Amino acid sequence: MKYVVIGASAAGLNGLKTLRSNDKNAEIVLIAPDSIIHSRCILHRFIDGERNESKLNFTEDGLIEKNKVKWLKNKAASVALDNKTVILDNGDKVNYDKLLIAAGSATNMPPIKNIEKVTNVFGLHDFDDAVAIKENAKKAKHIGIIGSGLIGCDAISGVLNSGAKISCFEMADHMLPVNLDKHAAQAYEKAFADKGVQQYYNVTVAEFLPGGDGKVSGLKLSDGKTFDCDMVIITTGLKANTDFLQNSGLQMDKKGLVYDKFGKTSDKNVFAAGDISGKTPVWSAAVKEGIIAANNMSGVPSEMTDFFASKCTMNFAGIPSMSLGITTKPDDTFIEVVSADKKGNYKKIVHKNGEIKGAILQGDLSYAGILTQLIREKIDVSRVKKPLFNIDYSDFFGEFKF
Ligand SMILES: Cc1cc2nc3c(=O)[nH]c(=O)nc-3n(C[C@H](O)[C@H](O)[C@H](O)COP(=O)(O)OP(=O)(O)OC[C@H]3O[C@@H](n4cnc5c(N)ncnc54)[C@H](O)[C@@H]3O)c2cc1C
Repeated sequence: MKYVVIGASAAGLNGLKTLRSNDKNAEIVLIAPDSIIHSRCILHRFIDGERNESKLNFTEDGLIEKNKVKWLKNKAASVALDNKTVILDNGDKVNYDKLLIAAGSATNMPPIKNIEKVTNVFGLHDFDDAVAIKENAKKAKHIGIIGSGLIGCDAISGVLNSGAKISCFEMADHMLPVNLDKHAAQAYEKAFADKGVQQYYNVTVAEFLPGGDGKVSGLKLSDGKTFDCDMVIITTGLKANTDFLQNSGLQMDKKGLVYDKFGKTSDKNVFAAGDISGKTPVWSAAVKEGIIAANNMSGVPSEMTDFFASKCTMNFAGIPSMSLGITTKPDDTFIEVVSADKKGNYKKIVHKNGEIKGAILQGDLSYAGILTQLIREKIDVSRVKKPLFNIDYSDFFGEFKF
C-alpha cells in the first residue's frame, strides 16, 4: 500500500503517524514545502523572542525518520484522480493508492485598495510570515493590525514589546468577536489597552496609503479617517488552500474541500482533514480529523463525533478563557445562563430546548470538566433542578435529579 499525505501540520502529521501505526509496511510519502515543522498557534512566541525556531516544533524528535516517511519538500500543483497521481510544482508525478489532503489554509487577504502596491504588509500564518514580522517590527514605528480575532490577538501579543506604537482595527464591535461575547472580550480589550494598544471597533480599513519608498505609510478607514503606520499585519481570516484542486473533480463547496465524518471526499481513494474544509479552523479539530481520516484510509473504522469541534482556549495577557459553539444567543428561542464575579471569573451557557449550544468560561476554567460532562451525557439543562454552575462531579454519579 502506498499512502501520500499532502501537508505537514496538525492534520497531515497526525495522519501520517496514524497511518504508520496501523500499517507497519506501507510506503508513506509526505508532500509539503515547509522549511521546518511548526505550530502556528505559538508563532507569536517566536515573534516576541520567547521561543526559538526549534521550540516551534510540536512533534516528537525524528518523527519523519522514525515513521519511515519520504518527505518531498514541494507543493502539490494538481491531483489526477483517474490515474491516482499528485503532480508537483516541479512537474514530478507521485502516484498513490490512498491520498490524504491536509493542505490547510492561508491568510485571506481582503481586497483593500492599494494592497498590491505597498510593501511591509504581512499575514500571520506560516513560519516565514513570523520571521518577516519579527524582523520588520524591530524597525517599525507604528504597526497597524487589521482584525482582532485569535490571530489578531496573537499578532498584538507578538509585537507588543517591539517598541512600536500598536493600533488595532476591527470591523465588529468587540475583540475576539467569533469566540467571545462582549463581556468576556472586555477583559482582553482592557488588558491590551493598559499596555498601550489603541483599538478601533466598528471600523473598516478601505485603503493603504503608499509611501515614497513603496512601503505602506498609512491606512484610510471607510469613514475617511487616516492613520499613519509603517507596517501592517492582516489577520482578517483564513481561506482553504484549494487552488491546486480546482480542476481535480473533487467536490468542493464555497468554503473548501468537502468530506464526511469519516474524512472521505467524493473520490473513494482520497481523504481529507483539517482547515482544507474551510469550516473549523481549530488545531484540535485538525488533529482529530487527521487521525480519523488516516484510520479509515488504513482499514480502522473511525468517525468524527465531536460536535463541539469549535472549542477553543486562549490565554492573552495572562487571562485564560475557553469558548465553544454559539456564545451569544441569536434569538429568543435560546436561553443564556450567566455567572460573573468581581474577580473577573465569568461563566456562560447558551442553550436551546435544554441542549447546550455554546459556552464561555473566563478566569477560573475549573467548570470545563463539568461542562464537558453535561455535553457528553447529553443532559437536558432546562430540567436541571440545581443552579447550573453549582453542579459538581458527584451529581453525575446518581445523586442528581435531571
Ligand atoms: C497564527 C495562527 C494562530 C493560531 N492559533 C490557534 C490556537 O491558539 N488554537 C487553535 O485551536 N487554533 C489556532 N490556529 C488554527 C490552527 O493553527 C489550524 O486550525 C491548524 O493549523 C490547521 O491545521 P491543518 O493541518 O489543517 O493545516 P495548516 O496548519 O494550515 O497546514 C497546512 C499544511 O499544508 C501545506 N500545504 C499547503 N498547500 C500545499 C500544497 N499545495 N502542496 C503541499 N503542501 C501544501 C502547508 O505548507 C502546511 O504544511 C491558529 C492559526 C494561525 C494561523
